[in-house]
Amino acid sequence: MTNSCQHCSKKIPISKVFCSPMCKENYFQKIAISVPKPFVKKLYFFCTEEEKSYEIKTFAKRHNWHEELVIEKVEELFQEYYKCG
Ligand SMILES: [Zn+2]
Repeated sequence: MTNSCQHCSKKIPISKVFCSPMCKENYFQKIAISVPKPFVKKLYFFCTEEEKSYEIKTFAKRHNWHEELVIEKVEELFQEYYKCG
């Protein structure tokens, strides 16, 4: 029997929840990240790719979050807000 890491979905023993301490940290940091809906909208509808990565970089830095996690979160929120149904 195996479990999947809650963060990266890697196969791990059933007794574990995360494959590494790093994944655990990232998972909880990602939960803590909050991105305002208008910001997501702006990134996808009013920014070029270049502006988008600059905006995300600035946003992540201001809140002291990992940029990659902010990118993942923004992607998820975009799917949730604009792609469902
Ligand atoms: Zn993992």
